[in-house]
Amino acid sequence: MVKKILKCPKCGSTEIDFLPWLGLIYRCRKCGYIGPLIIEEEIEDSS
Ligand SMILES: [Zn+2]
Repeated sequence: MVKKILKCPKCGSTEIDFLPWLGLIYRCRKCGYIGPLIIEEEIEDSS
């Protein structure tokens, strides 16, 4: 199974909030980054 995770482009943290009421905006809980750019990574979930 493939799982999609979101990563902060600034610090690489996966603690990302999606703020749909602001449009396609994401927020990083770790460094405070807010913006439309986010890294989407697909990881193989072996379980
Ligand atoms: Zn960050």
